Amino acid sequence: MFADIGTVTRTVRAPADLEGLSGIVLPGGESTTLSMLLSSSGLFEPLGERLGAGLPVFGTCAGMVLLAAEVLDGRPDQRSFGLLDCVVRRNGYGRQRWSFEALVAAPKVSAELGMDDRPMPGVFIRAPAVVSVGPRAEVLATLPQKGVEAPQPVVCRQGAVLASVFHPELTGDRRLHRLFARMTAAHAGT
Ligand code: GLN
Repeated sequence: MFADIGTVTRTVRAPADLEGLSGIVLPGGESTTLSMLLSSSGLFEPLGERLGAGLPVFGTCAGMVLLAAEVLDGRPDQRSFGLLDCVVRRNGYGRQRWSFEALVAAPKVSAELGMDDRPMPGVFIRAPAVVSVGPRAEVLATLPQKGVEAPQPVVCRQGAVLASVFHPELTGDRRLHRLFARMTAAHAGT
C-alpha cells in the first residue's frame, strides 16, 4: 500500500533497524505475541523512546492495542506503549467468527487530504473496540451502529500517533496510508 503511494518502506526486526526511520507501522496480528516479540527482540525500550520523542507511528488492529493507554481483556503481562489517550477492549467485537467488513465514515480524513468524501471500507478481524476516547485523542473515523445513536470510534489520532481498529491494508482505499505518509513527511522535515 505504501509503495503504491510512493513511500519507501523496510522491515524493522532489531533495534539497529530503527535508525533513520521517519515513521513506523505497528501491524495487525496478536498484541500479546507482538508484545512478547518486542521484548525478546530488545525493541520495546528503544522503540518506546523514539515514539515518546515523536516518531510517527501507525498502529492497525493489534498495533492499536499496543498504543492504547489502557487495554481491557488483555493478558496481564502484555505491554503497551500507552501513547494514545483511549481505552480499547481486545477482541471487542467478538471472536474470529464475528469478524466482519463494514463501511466507516471518515470525513475528517478526506477533508485533510483535500479529497471528496466517501465511506471507507474497513476489514475488522478480531478487532479491538474503542471503549472510550480521552480529551487528548481525536476521533477520525466512526462505525455507524444499528440501533445505537453514537457511532463507535474506529480511527483515532493523537499528535504523531495514528491508529485504526480495522485493517486498512486489506482494501484498495489508501486514504489512511496517505494521511500517515503526510505525518511522516512532517516529521522528516523537523
Ligand atoms: N485480537 C488481536 C489482538 O488483540 C488483534 C487482531 C488483529 O490484529 N487482526 O491483538
